[in-house]
Amino acid sequence: MTTTTVASPKIRQTNMLIGGKWLESRSGRRFATVNPVNEQVIAEVAEGDSADVDAAVKAARAAFDSGPWSRMDARDRGRLMNKLADLMEANLEELAALESLDNGKPIRDARAADLPLSIDCLRYYAGWADKLTGDTIPIRGNYFCYTRREPVGVAGQIIPWNFPLLMAAWKWGPALAAGCTIVMKPAEQTPLTCLRLGELAQEAGIPDGVINIVTGYGATGAAIVKHPGVDKIAFTGHYETAQKIMVDASATLKRLTFELGGKSPNVVFADADLDAAVAGAEFGLFFNQGQCCCAGSRLFVEESIHAKFVEKVVARAKSRRLGDSLDTNTTQGPQVDLEQFQKIMSYIDKGKSEGATCLTGGSRVGNKGFFIEPTVFDNVTDDMSIARDEIFGPVMSILPFKNVDDIINRANNTYYGLAAAVWTKDVQKAHRFAAGVRAGTVWVNCYDVFDAAAPFGGFKMSGLGRELGAAGLANYTELKTVTMNLG
Ligand code: ADP
Repeated sequence: MTTTTVASPKIRQTNMLIGGKWLESRSGRRFATVNPVNEQVIAEVAEGDSADVDAAVKAARAAFDSGPWSRMDARDRGRLMNKLADLMEANLEELAALESLDNGKPIRDARAADLPLSIDCLRYYAGWADKLTGDTIPIRGNYFCYTRREPVGVAGQIIPWNFPLLMAAWKWGPALAAGCTIVMKPAEQTPLTCLRLGELAQEAGIPDGVINIVTGYGATGAAIVKHPGVDKIAFTGHYETAQKIMVDASATLKRLTFELGGKSPNVVFADADLDAAVAGAEFGLFFNQGQCCCAGSRLFVEESIHAKFVEKVVARAKSRRLGDSLDTNTTQGPQVDLEQFQKIMSYIDKGKSEGATCLTGGSRVGNKGFFIEPTVFDNVTDDMSIARDEIFGPVMSILPFKNVDDIINRANNTYYGLAAAVWTKDVQKAHRFAAGVRAGTVWVNCYDVFDAAAPFGGFKMSGLGRELGAAGLANYTELKTVTMNLG
């Protein structure tokens, strides 16, 4: 196989975007972002604190309260969003390489998934900008009553490191379409593509102050949450962080939307197309190094096909090609950082000590970079740590089942409820499962099918509200009722 390693992209921007200017942090502090392939520092990025957040919120407030954005003709807003999407497309190779370098994801995935989905999301929401309508409401008496959908105001957006660019697009799209202005904090592990996106937003002509980007750690995010000038927080990350955000946001009763973790059941019935289910199980778990909130991390397999299924899925796990994320042949990169690496390794140890059977993998690969072998555990039971907790790594847990009547209860036996999947040719079984499982998304005979038009979000502790689709847009609006006396 020929090795084609893409050249490392140039790092163009490491400062913060505040009110249209690229600024150092007021404290002068910087933090390192590291290449997870070789643990080398890629760049030192400005570390914003509450003073920088305050400046960013003031810029966003001004752009919203008296600036051009919320007053701009909605069609023009949509046009600028489409321009940004066009610029992303024109710079697709650079953005994909930057994402790959900063996050460790294989360049082929960044090209095929992260970039096209991000561009599509902005285009989808650009189309919504001039379609936000209210209702006329027949009320009692001689009145004319109608509703208006207005932008919620300044949106504080805090995103994680697993899909840095895509999470930015999911958050910018609906906010910009609704007429909101933005203060975004990318994850400390992966700030680079968001900063580059900020440059492209300027190039597209999105006015100063509409999009502000403050880089830093959790404390920087907390400063956004606590700021009284922010109207809404949209957060994607760990549920424990969401709990802190809820507390911090309570003083000003900010609107909140959360997209959190999962322990998603992926259920394979004996009557399924076996090869399709095996491929779906591999993709549903190992995609993005297992760092997906909707990973199919509880793989329930009906006992009568268990042996055959296991043989095929192990072969697929073994065939994954680990390597440099910028090598176009790589299908699995490193985990994002040392903390995640250590957490995953500790779950692998727990899996072994709690009695699951490790069929393949289970070890670090090499001694530089955060690479973990694709790992498959069999004979996992519902009470084991690897069946209960979100691992966020390339660790598959197979739970054999024979009691079909009980599988919906077992699938629901988790405090999460983000996604679920079922593989079967039996239409009734599929519908029964789809209706019975407590999860925001259900895939039938497929996995990880995402579209900007289809809402995504969690039941239970997997989230609050929905992203994408019309539902995602509604979260960036306030509904105003106007009643006029007709005399
Ligand atoms: P993960 O486990 O995926 O890193 P986190 O919830 O820790 O998830 O991080 C997601 C995002 O939330 C990151 O941008 C991080 O810096 C930010 N963050 C962490 N702690 C806080 C906090 N207390 N308030 C606001 N944002 C935070």
